[in-house]
Amino acid sequence: MLDFLGDLRRTHMCGALRASDAGKKAVLMGWVNRRRDHGNLLFIDLRDRTGIAQIVFNAERDAAIHEKAGGLRNEYVIAVTGTVKLRDPNTINRNMPTGEVELVAEELRILNESKLPPFLPSDTALTNEETRLKYRYIDLRRDVMQFNIETRHKVAKAIRDYLSDQGFFEIETPFMTRSTPEGARDYLVPSRVQPGTFYALPQSPQMFKQILMISGFDKYFQIVRCFRDEDLRADRQPEFTQIDLEMSYPQPERVWEVVEGFLTAAFRAAGSEIKTPFPRMDYDEAIRLYGIDKPDLRLPAFTDVRECFTPENLQELAINPNLPLIAIRTPKVSELSRKERDDIKPMFHSKGGAKIFEDFKRIANKFPEAAAAIAKKASMEEGDLIVLVAGSAQAGPQTAMPAHRKVTPQELAIYASAGLLRLALAQKYADRHGIFKKTGDPAKDFRFIWVTNFPMFEWDEGEKIWNAAHHPFTSPHEEDMKLLEAGVESLNDPQSPLSSVRALAYDVVLNGTELGSGSIRIHRQDIQSKIFRALGMTEEEARARFGFFLEALEYGTPPHGGIALGLDRIVMIIAGAESLREVIPFPKTARAVDLMVDAPTPVSDSQLKDLGIVVKK
Ligand code: ASP
Repeated sequence: MLDFLGDLRRTHMCGALRASDAGKKAVLMGWVNRRRDHGNLLFIDLRDRTGIAQIVFNAERDAAIHEKAGGLRNEYVIAVTGTVKLRDPNTINRNMPTGEVELVAEELRILNESKLPPFLPSDTALTNEETRLKYRYIDLRRDVMQFNIETRHKVAKAIRDYLSDQGFFEIETPFMTRSTPEGARDYLVPSRVQPGTFYALPQSPQMFKQILMISGFDKYFQIVRCFRDEDLRADRQPEFTQIDLEMSYPQPERVWEVVEGFLTAAFRAAGSEIKTPFPRMDYDEAIRLYGIDKPDLRLPAFTDVRECFTPENLQELAINPNLPLIAIRTPKVSELSRKERDDIKPMFHSKGGAKIFEDFKRIANKFPEAAAAIAKKASMEEGDLIVLVAGSAQAGPQTAMPAHRKVTPQELAIYASAGLLRLALAQKYADRHGIFKKTGDPAKDFRFIWVTNFPMFEWDEGEKIWNAAHHPFTSPHEEDMKLLEAGVESLNDPQSPLSSVRALAYDVVLNGTELGSGSIRIHRQDIQSKIFRALGMTEEEARARFGFFLEALEYGTPPHGGIALGLDRIVMIIAGAESLREVIPFPKTARAVDLMVDAPTPVSDSQLKDLGIVVKK
């Protein structure tokens, strides 16, 4: 027989009881987390969002209530009225905030029963993720998940508060809209009233937020769901949350200040202090020093050690003297065993003519002077591992590049191989000393960096066209307008001056993970048309896709810029979680399936008919 709640009101949360409450009456409500039967004494651990309280049912005090409590099972929902009492000194539990007290039950209402769940919130060994996702409501009762979701709330609130204080308005933008150019596929929603037409779910509110600047709102933000239909990727979600913002008249530095401000507030809300301003680095320099545009600063940068060898040495080693010769230093790896050396061999297979020397000792035996110079230049210490990456002599001499190029494609190939290797080595070997972790660094070693001045265009070798590296509304660097003008004259050429146009685009990176990216936008119609031309789009094509937006640009658009950061990823890092699914209440699997509600599903024939859609089997 179940009881009704009636007019019973909760007085305390379970996790709130302390020694100072002894003697007070309390009414607690929650789930039966655990039951221990000691004959006349029956103990229940009662759980709610805030923690666990111990309830005692004493048969000698009250036989009826003791008997009723005997029927309780895991995850039953109950309300208990009683008196808070100090525990006997020998039963105090110092590991629990409520461990000094217990509630002596005087009234028990059993509000609901529970079937035996497939796993218990208190289980320490986790069941497989599919079961967790299918029974997400049980999974979310686990204290880690409660902590993660609470952290998510606190982080989002800190960001909202910060941005509101800075004069940003939170403004909603539509979910049923049209395609935005963010580079992924759209999720489409068919229109019933206009058969054959579709809304697109936003990949980002990009055009709306720019239009809000044209509309005079000056500073906008939104913590907003975005949708991207991407191919299966391990840690991606088809719907995810961005902290999206836009402001009028900013230089990039002004946007960075705002981001540094709200990240400080967000990390502080979760108890961590971070250092601002974040260091800044040009894209080209990031490539030269780390071989990647999202450098992990917890590991040493590359050292170019070309000059440590004589020209004869290089010839003997079949190294191209005109390409970078990079020393990758991985700290505190010590000597690798033969097996480990064999294990990493497959990592060394590289593209683009890079030649990799993993056995530094062998080089040292052969060229002791060079090795000593390398060790010095790369600040090698006892136990560090050095791997060299060079251009293969067979790759031939470097092709002559136009003067405007900073990093040539051949150099890029070497830097990129070295960059991948640097991370793979660190993940595989430095980890055994606990000095490097991908996420949730226990040492809270949060190393942020701004990477800026990205290339504006990317060459698509297959299509032989230039694509926008960010999105087509990103402003070219003011100093590079000449290159843009010259570039539109040589569109189908990978050597076009377009290759050197820098964008006023920036990424914020934390420990090798990109947290967000943004840019200063194009606010002038004449420049916007040139960009579309450079992207091989005719005026008509551009009008067909973004006509409303191009028109809006013509009505007094202020200079503006902004950024969007992934909230899920930030919370994941702050909470020390292993995957995005751990910080999203109802996530989808890598196959974009919601296992709890079982979506997506087929729909009825009549729904399809209404929409004028025929599904091909
Ligand atoms: N809309 C961009 C993105 O989602 C961010 C921005 O440029 O503000 O990546």
